[in-house]
Amino acid sequence: KVEIRAASKTYQVFIGSGLRHQIGSQLKSILSQPPSSIFIISDTNVAPKYLDDVKASFDKELSVFDYVIKSGEASKSFQVYEDVLTKALESNLDRKSVVIALGGGVVGDLAGFVAATYMRGIRFVQVPTTLLAHDSSVGGKVAINHPLGKNMIGSFHQPEVVFYDTETLYSLPKREWRSGFAEVIKHGFIRNRRFLEELERDWTSFENIPIEQLNTMLEKSISVKADVVAEDEKELGVRAHLNLGHTLGHALEAELGYGVMTHGEAVAIGILYAMRLSEEINQIDLNIPHYEEWFRRLGYETRIPASLKGEKLLKTMSQDKKVEAGTIRMVLLEKIGQATVTNIPPDIILALIEERME
Ligand code: NAD
Ligand code: ZN
Repeated sequence: KVEIRAASKTYQVFIGSGLRHQIGSQLKSILSQPPSSIFIISDTNVAPKYLDDVKASFDKELSVFDYVIKSGEASKSFQVYEDVLTKALESNLDRKSVVIALGGGVVGDLAGFVAATYMRGIRFVQVPTTLLAHDSSVGGKVAINHPLGKNMIGSFHQPEVVFYDTETLYSLPKREWRSGFAEVIKHGFIRNRRFLEELERDWTSFENIPIEQLNTMLEKSISVKADVVAEDEKELGVRAHLNLGHTLGHALEAELGYGVMTHGEAVAIGILYAMRLSEEINQIDLNIPHYEEWFRRLGYETRIPASLKGEKLLKTMSQDKKVEAGTIRMVLLEKIGQATVTNIPPDIILALIEERME
């Protein structure tokens, strides 16, 4: 397990196989106030596989309600948010009720925002079921999307506890493994060189991964996130390093149309781009071809699709993170395992976008 020491709250992330069967019994000792009722939020892919197991882990006397949203990013909407709240009110959830997010980052972000706002905030528990959610379920950022921008309406609301049942990851499509693994790689690049080297050694495909290897990797990756969140819960400083690869990554997702590339696939291209920018700005050599080869072996694209226009990407990137005098705020590397934030003039951004096109 990993301990998260955020300024507002300390809680545990349990990592292991089959944890979903123990949630009800574990919560009895973890929650200082027993829950009056439980409200499980899940999605249409996850619920048929795992919802009954989680429900069965609670005592018969406790009322356990559930709400299943349609899978996919589109569910992080005002409409679905309202639908979930309606069900919560109809179920008479009160201040002592506990929300459980059973699913990937979409369920976690939505359910977390429901918990943050229902009756001005009730407790919630994260039960992540995707690899990407090792990142999203920890740290307390919860949100829904506005038509004008992703994650624009949200809050900081830390969970009481995270139960990461890694057995559930084996029903994920390979593409979702690849998507989530980009955030793992990111954690190595920004903060832990040795971890990155272990990843390179042990992870050359996503086939037949032993669960011990998966658990060890997740524990280390979550520890990086835990350190960052402990230093800077509200993203006033070092937490911004977690955005490595994301300024270009978000622009790629938006320009290609959501769903064409997964989030992690876009971030992987963004990380390599940020490395090239780091070389230029910081006058260093990061041996990019070496990492490109590893990324390719894992099935990532490493170049910006030629179908996109550099100027348009630049525009989208500056909407994402614009600062004074038209420069763009980017997370760069000082070396492998150490990140920094720098304001970059747009002409350099554009020149290197063009260099990194396929
Ligand atoms: P997701 O929740 O949509 O899950 C991906 C797909 O896998 C979905 O189709 C889902 O139904 C399916 N799925 C989930 N678990 C499964 C399982 N065990 N077996 C089979 N299928 C399963 O997406 P995601 O990649 O987990 O998360 C992406 C979201 O996370 C985005 O909305 C992003 O904004 C958010 N996010 C939040 C933070 C944060 O700090 N809050 C950080 C990163 C990302
Ligand atoms: Zn991300």
